[in-house]
Amino acid sequence: MTDEMAYDVAASVVERGDLPLLGQDPRRTYRMGIMGGTFDPIHNGHLVAAEQAFDDLDLDVVVFMPAGRPAFKQGKRVTAGEDRYAMTLLATSDNPHFLASRFEVDREGITYTADTLECLASIYPSNVEFYFITGADAIAEVVTWRDAHKIAELAHLVGATRPGYDLAHAKHAIAESPFEFDVTYLEVPALAISSSYLRERVAAMQSLRYLTPDTVTGYIHKHKLYGVLPRRYGSTVIVDADGQTEGRRRGEQRTD
Ligand code: ATP
Ligand code: MG
Repeated sequence: MTDEMAYDVAASVVERGDLPLLGQDPRRTYRMGIMGGTFDPIHNGHLVAAEQAFDDLDLDVVVFMPAGRPAFKQGKRVTAGEDRYAMTLLATSDNPHFLASRFEVDREGITYTADTLECLASIYPSNVEFYFITGADAIAEVVTWRDAHKIAELAHLVGATRPGYDLAHAKHAIAESPFEFDVTYLEVPALAISSSYLRERVAAMQSLRYLTPDTVTGYIHKHKLYGVLPRRYGSTVIVDADGQTEGRRRGEQRTD
């Protein structure tokens, strides 16, 4: 990204105010967590990982940044950025130290983490540190991302481990890299949730309750995302003459 482009982005972000105000007091250091992802849709795994990073690493805030056009999802169907942003906003809105940002969604072209970090570094004073939170499975890949040296230079990495994940691969990749990454690994208890799993469940008319906030489920149904079928209101459960529950009528969708 050229300086001019960075300036344009910075100016529009400051105007919109969807990035936190940090760095005011030059006597202290501020820690900004950045949770990047496709968030198609956001789920409790993302939220728990971010909350834990906030606590364990003493962060000031965690900014959720849905990717505009994710570099790794080229050729795959991805829900419109506007919908992914809206769901991220709904999911984070009741947590005072979470923030949803349009920063990447509004940017043209493919989203690269190094570009985002460079932009952020140009916006904030030097007493603001960046903590890029990602799944530990993605840590092994960060070393291969475009401009990985810039990522190493500009941010600390936080690797949230999913259950059953062996850290050896990630640690090996980091150790082999010619760049000096600073990585903290976090154990995120009992979370094997993924967005793909949620999408499959919606398509199979299964509940999303306890997997993502209810507001996100409501949004998915209202906007008919992930193959939600048209829903008839009023009669979700049918009881036959013997008092037996027949279940849902064909074509009916659970909304919980
Ligand atoms: P998909 O199934 O479509 O790949 P996903 O659930 O992995 O989606 P992403 O939006 O790709 O979600 O992930 C955003 C970031 O959150 C990534 O860094 C990913 O590694 C991390 N992440 C995803 N799910 C979890 C989880 N359950 N616990 C901790 N981190 C997670
Ligand atoms: Mg993923």
